[in-house]
Amino acid sequence: MISKILIANRGEIALRVIRACREMGIASVAVHSTADNHAMHVGLADESVCLGPAPAANSYLNIPSIIAACEITGADAVHPGYGFLSENAKFADILEAHGITFIGPTADHIRLMGDKIAAKAKAIELGIPVVPGSDGEVKDVAEALKVGREMGFPVLVKAASGGGGRGMKIAKTEDDLAEAFTTARSEAKAAFGDDAVYIEKYLEKPRHIEIQVACDTHGNAVHLGERDCSLQRRHQKVLEEAPSTVLDDAARAKIGKIVTNAMQGMSYRGVGTIEFLYEKGEFYFIEMNTRLQVEHPVTEAITGIDLVREQIRVANGEVLSFTQDDIVLSGHAMECRINAEHPETFVPSPGKIQTYHAPGGLGVRIDSAVFSGYAIPPYYDSLIGKLIVHAADRETCMRRLDRALREFAIDGVETTLPLFHRLLANEDFQKADYDIHWLEGFLQSEAEKKTAG
Ligand code: ADP
Repeated sequence: MISKILIANRGEIALRVIRACREMGIASVAVHSTADNHAMHVGLADESVCLGPAPAANSYLNIPSIIAACEITGADAVHPGYGFLSENAKFADILEAHGITFIGPTADHIRLMGDKIAAKAKAIELGIPVVPGSDGEVKDVAEALKVGREMGFPVLVKAASGGGGRGMKIAKTEDDLAEAFTTARSEAKAAFGDDAVYIEKYLEKPRHIEIQVACDTHGNAVHLGERDCSLQRRHQKVLEEAPSTVLDDAARAKIGKIVTNAMQGMSYRGVGTIEFLYEKGEFYFIEMNTRLQVEHPVTEAITGIDLVREQIRVANGEVLSFTQDDIVLSGHAMECRINAEHPETFVPSPGKIQTYHAPGGLGVRIDSAVFSGYAIPPYYDSLIGKLIVHAADRETCMRRLDRALREFAIDGVETTLPLFHRLLANEDFQKADYDIHWLEGFLQSEAEKKTAG
């Protein structure tokens, strides 16, 4: 049985895991860089170990230091959170070799899904619908042109090792393809050390809809509905909501069944997210994330299920604490990612938070590790926190979000809070009339209005 969990992460997600540990009676170990000596996760865990200097490569990504921290503290399991080492198959392998439980799927499954070309082939094999595209890797411009002509433009050139929207280039016409191909390849090489790319049909007006799954080692796989993450800037999610307004119960049950059958087919373990683009009533698989996601609280809000607790239980070899029939989606939830960034230019704004006052009240959840007087270090991501609201229906949820945003006070750094006020005032958003490109258009028209005015 797991008795002490080391959390190989920082910020709000480290805190999220510490909270689950505390409620389960499991001891927690925080690790940190010298830049995070006074961070909240360090203070709240039962023990803490400094891994090294500020740059992530020397601390949060330093596998030997993390293994040493496990040995020093006697931690018998590691929770990787999201980002950092959470989808690093080698890390999962090394932990296993040291007899330490990795709270996540097997290293083989991480490896498989980390290679998007292999993942897509596996998805097809498991009966999951995918975006039409090249049959695996595309080696040169000539082959890219052949695929593009067969499929019809526009097409998207994507990195096999891609993540965070990097190494992805659109070719609107044949004339753009050579450049898109070469840039995607060199970006992929620089970002991931792997220049393999593939080609997909570029969908013009899809939604991003992802299905949350949870699986145990006893053959049970359950889906917990979807999250609509269509509101994106530069392929990064900004606001997520569940349920999606475009799915009804029958469509949800149908895709849920496809996905849970697939998870059983590959004997997947732990939580995971199957990401789809959704257009004209059809689902198209784009990738699978083999970890807990930033936006998991949206699902927790509408299901009442603690996903981190389930991750730990599954890692312990226990049976999931629910079956598919137990899952009831209740009400509507939205999550805003509040970043320390300028609300119009999105330039990062690290520095000291002078005042911090978080909203509260019924249906409001804040996942954040900042406080008044906390200095946001410049070395990591700019997430200040996540505001999650839950209410009986979408209309009430928007009103609740509006009032929660009005209560939120953060001074000292620029934040993206004003962006969410503007979004809530927008009629398309209010009607949920958006696709994955909508937010970029909205931001652009706001910027133009500002210059004109
Ligand atoms: P990453 O791993 O870099 O996040 P994904 O494959 O998950 O890459 O895609 C990220 C986002 O890029 C999607 O949510 C969507 O907005 C856009 N995208 C990906 N594939 C396509 C496609 N075939 N057509 C249109 N947009 C796409």
